Amino acid sequence: MKCKDSIKDLKEYKPSSLPFNIKLDANEGRSNILKDEFYFKDDFKFNFYPDSESSQLRKEIGKYLGVKESKIVAGNGSSEMIDLIMKAFVDKDDKILTFVPTFSMYYVYSKIYSANLIGVESEEDFSVDIDKLIEKEKEIDPKVIIICNPNNPTGYQISVGNIKKILEKTESLVVVDEAYIEFTKGSMINELKNYNNLVILRTFSKAFSLAGIRLGYMIANEDIIDIINKVKSPYNLNSITQYIGIRRLEKKDNLGKYIKEVKKERERVYEELKSMNFKVYKSSANFIFFKSDIKNLSKNMAKKGILIRGFSDDLKNHYRVSIGEKEENDSFIEYIKGII
Ligand SMILES: *Cc1c(COP(=O)(O)O)cnc(C)c1O
Repeated sequence: MKCKDSIKDLKEYKPSSLPFNIKLDANEGRSNILKDEFYFKDDFKFNFYPDSESSQLRKEIGKYLGVKESKIVAGNGSSEMIDLIMKAFVDKDDKILTFVPTFSMYYVYSKIYSANLIGVESEEDFSVDIDKLIEKEKEIDPKVIIICNPNNPTGYQISVGNIKKILEKTESLVVVDEAYIEFTKGSMINELKNYNNLVILRTFSKAFSLAGIRLGYMIANEDIIDIINKVKSPYNLNSITQYIGIRRLEKKDNLGKYIKEVKKERERVYEELKSMNFKVYKSSANFIFFKSDIKNLSKNMAKKGILIRGFSDDLKNHYRVSIGEKEENDSFIEYIKGII
């Protein structure tokens, strides 16, 4: 069977399915605040379709952010949000501009919508030069600019001022993926009132530690939200996810404590890796990016039940390790100490 041209060479995105004792390869959170809850009370009706607009959930998200719910769309992870943005705004052969390396799903969705993802290379230390992006923007006139901030997999964070510099210079849609923003400061939320072309993506998969329920959302001005709602499937978010999302937000007060723990562990793992002479990059997220010339590091580690993320091609010999519980991080560090 012949598929459409744009995805002929696209490979299926297959997350690791290796068995594990310690999982540090996908940046999932550890704040199991809901684990002892009995979620489904009598008033929970499985026979009815879910609320197609996720109204109550969006109201709670709005309260958490200090944003009107009319500026929010919720769905199956920020992955669905990226899909919806492309579905609504990107035509065949349009250009999408980003920094590279970055989150690989931007490339996948660009392909699916027959668009051209153009990457501005990061500097040698994986910081980025905003002026280079602005220059490229002038040259190619992209339909969408997508910025992952803090960036996955490098952990590098761009300042609010520098993102504003981009917004001042472009009329393209500027999407800022803030999947890891809870682990740092510098959200673009307060800039929504100043820019009609700004879209912010958020997720429950990381700091909120609910990757398993698939819940993400976007925040933008109503003009953009209205367009997104035209292409969103009805009932895109199931009742169980909406319900758990609301319950999680009721307990958002624990977030600060968890984030503090992650940051403390992040600095500890950073220092440990540095003391072993790896090239380690400062991270604003819940993972650390590093370079190691040890052969097959992630493969051999996986044989011992510890999963970290390895990369290929331009990022050969680079790895990303999530910050887990203290004991998990210890096991990772002990493993590496044992082989060097
Ligand atoms: C993990 C991650 C997400 C979250 O995706 P979900 O579909 O919400 O789980 C989004 N963007 C980036 C850059 C990520 O690393």
